[in-house]
Amino acid sequence: MKKKYVTTAVVAVACFSLMVGCSTKSRSSNETNKSSTDEKIHVTTTFYPMYEFTKQVAGDKADVELLIPSTVEPHDWEPSPKDMKNIQQSDLVVYNSPYMETWEPSIEKSINSEGPTFVKASTGIELMNGIEEEKGKQTHAYDPHVWLSPVLAQKEVKNIAKALEKADPDNKDYYEKNSEKYIDQLKDLDKKYQSTLKDVRNKELVTQHAAFGYLAKQYGLTQVPIAGLSPEQEPSAAKLAELKKFAQTHHVKTIYFEELTSPKVAKTLAEEVGAKTEVLNTLEGLSKEQQKQGLDYIEAMENNLKQLQKSLSE
Ligand SMILES: [Zn+2]
Repeated sequence: MKKKYVTTAVVAVACFSLMVGCSTKSRSSNETNKSSTDEKIHVTTTFYPMYEFTKQVAGDKADVELLIPSTVEPHDWEPSPKDMKNIQQSDLVVYNSPYMETWEPSIEKSINSEGPTFVKASTGIELMNGIEEEKGKQTHAYDPHVWLSPVLAQKEVKNIAKALEKADPDNKDYYEKNSEKYIDQLKDLDKKYQSTLKDVRNKELVTQHAAFGYLAKQYGLTQVPIAGLSPEQEPSAAKLAELKKFAQTHHVKTIYFEELTSPKVAKTLAEEVGAKTEVLNTLEGLSKEQQKQGLDYIEAMENNLKQLQKSLSE
C-alpha cells in the first residue's frame, strides 16, 4: 500500500506537469474518496511457514512476499541492503520469533515510525528451553520451532489474522473467514497426528537438529537431536559418542536428516549404529522441486506423519 501511494503521487505530478489527458484509471485512483479496498496491503514474511500461514489468511486481498529464499536455511540468514529496503516498504512484516530471525530486534529498533508493523507470530506461545552446545559448553536457549506443532501453528495463524485485520480493516471479515477455514484444517491435522502416534511402538526420535521439540512434546515423543537448536551447531565428539550409545541402547532404527543442511553427521551416526536415514521436513524452507510439486504446509506435515508412523512402528 505504501509503495502504491508513492506511485499514485508520481503519476499525479506527471499528469499535472504534462497537462495532457491522463487515463481515467490514474485520475480515479487519485480521488481522495476512493475506497481503500482497491489498494492491497504489502506484507513481507520471513521464511516458509510464515509465508504459507499469511497467504492462507490473506488470500488475494494482500500482496504477500517471502523474504528469505526458501532454498536457504533461515537460522543463520541475514538481510542484505536490498532486503532492508523491502522490509521498509512493507505495511506488515510477519516473523516467527527473535530466536529464529535473530536479526529482527535490531532492525525493528533501527526502522523509524514510518516503517512497517512487525508481527511476531509466536506471540502468546510459551517457548520451551532447548540446549545449545558450543565448543563443548552447554547453554540454555529458547526453542523457536513452534510452527512444527499443528496446535501451536493455529495460534500463529490467529496472531497473523489479527494483524492483517488491524492493518486492513476493510477486509476484516474475509481474513476472519479464511483463518477459521485454515485453522479447521490444522485441527484435522492435529487429530490425525494424535490418532496415528498414540500407538507407535518407539517414542524416541533422533533428528538432525532440534527442530521437532514442540511436535514431540505434543504427541508424547522424545526428541534426541544430533545438532542443537540451529543446524549449524555440530556436535562434539563426546556428544556423538553419547548419541551412539543412546541409539544402540534404544534400538533406534531410523535417524532423520533434513534437506537444507548437510546430512553428513546424521548419515555417519546412522552407519555406525546400523540405522537407516529418512527425511523429516522442518519446513524451514522448501526445495525448488517441492515448490514445483505444489507442496504446502499441511501436505508436508502429512508426509512427516507417514514417515514417523512407519519408522516409529518398526
Ligand atoms: Zn531449526
